[in-house]
Amino acid sequence: MMNRRRRLHLMPDGTWHEEAPRTCTNGHALQARSVLVGARACGCGIGHHRTHHCRTCGDTVFSPPLGETCTDGTFDGRAGRRPV
Ligand SMILES: [Zn+2]
Ligand SMILES: [Zn+2]
Repeated sequence: MMNRRRRLHLMPDGTWHEEAPRTCTNGHALQARSVLVGARACGCGIGHHRTHHCRTCGDTVFSPPLGETCTDGTFDGRAGRRPV
């Protein structure tokens, strides 16, 4: 199993900077009017994932990307689940 790289960078001021994806997995530009930005609570230790939902094709890009310990998209309606 591959070790996923997390696109997170710790800024000098101690905040985490998330790289926003520029396109969905289908190559559509994620711009102000074509993307819905949200966040989803997750129990993987990161705390939450930023979600970029492409309004063109319905694809959702997570940043940082979902890893093995993440709950998958089927838990969208259960964001209240407590992390272990
Ligand atoms: Zn798209
Ligand atoms: Zn996660």
